[in-house]
Amino acid sequence: MRKKIVAANWKMHLSFAEAMALTDAFLHGLDDSGGLEVLIAPPFPYIHEVLNGIQRHPLISVAAQNCSEHNNGAYTGEVSAYMLASVGVEFVITGHSERRKYYGDIPEVISRKVDRILEHRMSPLFCCGETLEDRNSGKHFDVITGQIRNSLGHLSVENMKSVVIAYEPVWAIGTGINATTKQAGEMHRFIRNLLSEIFSDDVSSGTSILYGGSLKPDNATELFSCEDIDGGLVGGSSLRATEFLTICRAMETACSR
Ligand code: PEP
Repeated sequence: MRKKIVAANWKMHLSFAEAMALTDAFLHGLDDSGGLEVLIAPPFPYIHEVLNGIQRHPLISVAAQNCSEHNNGAYTGEVSAYMLASVGVEFVITGHSERRKYYGDIPEVISRKVDRILEHRMSPLFCCGETLEDRNSGKHFDVITGQIRNSLGHLSVENMKSVVIAYEPVWAIGTGINATTKQAGEMHRFIRNLLSEIFSDDVSSGTSILYGGSLKPDNATELFSCEDIDGGLVGGSSLRATEFLTICRAMETACSR
């Protein structure tokens, strides 16, 4: 049975007080009966307090939004996987299209970040996704294949058991235009087949593959009805408690079917 996960990526938003109020609203709005795992990815300075806040909740974990490709050393401004693990972080987002676009996270760098995350016994939440240009020129499957092979292809089957994948078409992130259920379902199935080809059938059937890209209360139920979609990575809508909680409930309902 694959884990069903809904993750809130707060990106570089919110003051400390706003972040703690949102954490509180999530805590009060989520029960622990639905079998859903919820991740909160706050900005770095808030991680410790969010971790303290969620201690009472068995199904909420904290994800970091990024980590360094290096273990430690003279890298001013960077945060290592070692540091994140030492405060209790369990997941780290890597391969996000904003990091690929603005911060030079090329596949080799992402691959090293994945290694650091795994070395410290955390789970990489690995994002992949094609641009609109890739899709319009029919290259989307090749692009996703390249991203997965180049950054995850070297992992052992054992290590792959800790990896969560998020399919996030770049053209859907923050645009209000989500992938259709048909487009997302097709890509999720494709990724699952690819995992079987590169790793094993067990990895393919056991890996949680989340959808991300303008996920909202009004499209979550339909997207989550797709068998190969195991949850969502939510940006904009995770900044509003009612929207995020509605998305979580849509996933819980999908789990119970
Ligand atoms: C994201 O940044 O991962 C994301 C999916 O953002 P949004 O939900 O705002 O499209």
